[in-house]
Amino acid sequence: ATEDIKILLLENINKTGRDVLTAQGYQVEYLKSSLPEDELIEKIRDVHVIGIRSKTKLTARVLREAKNLLVVGCFCIGTNQVDTQFAAQHGVAVFNSPFSNSRSVAELVIGEIIALARQLGDRSSELHKGTWNKVSSGCWEIRGKTLGIIGYGHIGSQLSVLAEAMGMTVIFFDAVNLMAMGTAKQVPTLEALLQGSDFVTCHVPELPETHKMISSQEFGQMRTGSYLINASRGSVIDIPALIDAMRAGKVAGAALDVYPSEPGGNGDYFNNELNSWAEDLRSLKNIILTPHIGGSTEEAQSAIGVEVSEALVRYVNEGATLGAVNMPEVNLRSLTMDEPNHVRMIYIHHNVPGVLRKVNEILGDHNVDKQMTDSRGDVAYLMADISDVSGSVIKELYQSLESLSSRIVTRVLY
Ligand code: NAD
Repeated sequence: ATEDIKILLLENINKTGRDVLTAQGYQVEYLKSSLPEDELIEKIRDVHVIGIRSKTKLTARVLREAKNLLVVGCFCIGTNQVDTQFAAQHGVAVFNSPFSNSRSVAELVIGEIIALARQLGDRSSELHKGTWNKVSSGCWEIRGKTLGIIGYGHIGSQLSVLAEAMGMTVIFFDAVNLMAMGTAKQVPTLEALLQGSDFVTCHVPELPETHKMISSQEFGQMRTGSYLINASRGSVIDIPALIDAMRAGKVAGAALDVYPSEPGGNGDYFNNELNSWAEDLRSLKNIILTPHIGGSTEEAQSAIGVEVSEALVRYVNEGATLGAVNMPEVNLRSLTMDEPNHVRMIYIHHNVPGVLRKVNEILGDHNVDKQMTDSRGDVAYLMADISDVSGSVIKELYQSLESLSSRIVTRVLY
């Protein structure tokens, strides 16, 4: 029953997220800070769900003690603070919130396009130092200019709509063929994008294929006097090559929000010790440097609260793993509650040969309405909706599945 579900929320998780969970009738304990490892181990023994942000380290040592834990919600983007593989192997799903800040990033980029075109950063810092420097040479309107978007996913496509609304022409390059928003056009190669754009902005994930995707050769293909923006991942741009391109006047301005190395906390860290070229970068004209704030808005924080807690509710109540970072994605349409004598069984198991035959031997004598199974690495997830079963049969099914050697976790829902 929902009122038996115990939830521990650490690190001051947004109220929007807490509200979704308490509305379900779960027992929610909420703390403003993270916990030292020993206290965390004491508390985690008890709970079915834990919600964290980036400071709580859920190592194998901690997770091993979490005997009742079903699921971890990371109310943030990254999941490096969790041993996700250990969690999967112990039947604990992990969720995060990768897309709730897409709009915030897209808006930042729009702001940067205008700021670069008008050299706002330089004019503002000059005047902060007392220098009046009124110039129009090399300053432009963005209307009628072409924006080239590399990576047309959640952020790239949002940006496309905003840029067209401001009178820009949009072209994009993506690894897959995608439906263009508005009158944007997909181009077949990165080279075509670079040659055709006044502003180039990167929105690809960090992958071996996107590592230093923009380096000296690509800067050579860009229009003289064009601009480069990167709010994706620091590995995507070869920064020494950018410094050369800016010094040579090839690139007229740049905005960077992400870097190959980023400090763990706020402070005076943006120097050559962090990244060997940091001080060269700082000395350039018309370059906007921001500390990975693309997704840092109040709205994104609320959206994260809702997105992650709704994923937790779906997992606890219905077993759905859509969006899990460490489990195969499995979902079936929910059963209607007025169907009598039905059950949803979840069987998380090691992905070993022959296991499905054994499972189906157990389930096969019953009326399996729907079943879905998928695997990710050596963990597999099976969801089956069975009708016309009584309480004692459900108990038998549960015990038979539990007795298989492949078993990680068996759950009976509804
Ligand atoms: P997404 O997964 O929705 O979209 C990425 C797109 O890139 C996809 O369409 C994909 O097909 C395409 N792609 C992948 N490999 C490619 C390649 N080699 N060449 C061309 N296209 C390729 O991702 P998203 O949510 O739009 O995020 C984009 C980037 O922004 C990610 O790197 C993400 O980590 C980063 N991000 C940064 C911030 C920030 O604070 N600055 C916030 C959120 C996301």
